[in-house]
Amino acid sequence: MQEGFNKLKELQKVLLEEFDIEAELEDIPTELHGLKRKFQKIQRTIKEIESNLESHNERSKKLIKEKEECNLNKDKYESQISLIKTQREYEAITSEIAQIKEKLEVIEEEEMNALQEIEEMKKVIDEQNDLYVQLKTTIAEKGKVVNKLMKEKQKKLDKCLKAKEKISAGLDEEVIYKFEKIVKKKDGIGLVSIRNNVCMGCNMILPPQFVNDVRREEEIIFCPNCSRILYYYEEKLEDEELVI
Ligand SMILES: [Zn+2]
Repeated sequence: MQEGFNKLKELQKVLLEEFDIEAELEDIPTELHGLKRKFQKIQRTIKEIESNLESHNERSKKLIKEKEECNLNKDKYESQISLIKTQREYEAITSEIAQIKEKLEVIEEEEMNALQEIEEMKKVIDEQNDLYVQLKTTIAEKGKVVNKLMKEKQKKLDKCLKAKEKISAGLDEEVIYKFEKIVKKKDGIGLVSIRNNVCMGCNMILPPQFVNDVRREEEIIFCPNCSRILYYYEEKLEDEELVI
């Protein structure tokens, strides 16, 4: 059984390394993923502004056309003034001209606003395009670094898994499965001693009969409270390897 405990101790070391590497593998691409999300957001923003810009350009064209029509009408009425014979006709025409002038003022103001907005949108698109190019380069560079790092870590992980397989040979599969879960959940410690009838993992006082069972070392026994694998600590043994 001593050999079994030593194997578990070895296995624990490998498992801790494995969990560390797995955590790193998860962390390494985090920043890159963030940059990619930012990149997609910029793409969406550019698309949105471009479509907005298009409708503003359409609006601007329509206003120019309306302005032309108004000016034509104004010219037409103004050219008629010299032909007028009565005061009534004169009043009617000048009233028409005044209305057209008012309309022109409204159109011109709207046109100015539209042009201003178009200019602003173009500016934002330029800024976003600069960001787009910068990010594209950064993502490509970072992507290379991340890939290299991930490959290195994956190699280490493969090595760990091989070591785990080697150590696990001869150990009960179910015990390994449970042990792995405990090591993961219980801060990396899945194997603890019993000293003075107390589990050194969770400090629970264990019944004497239970302690005797552990001491006999006939089978792997788990702490009923913290689920860690237990071994009996003999004062005289003073086993450096197994002191926890
Ligand atoms: Zn315990």
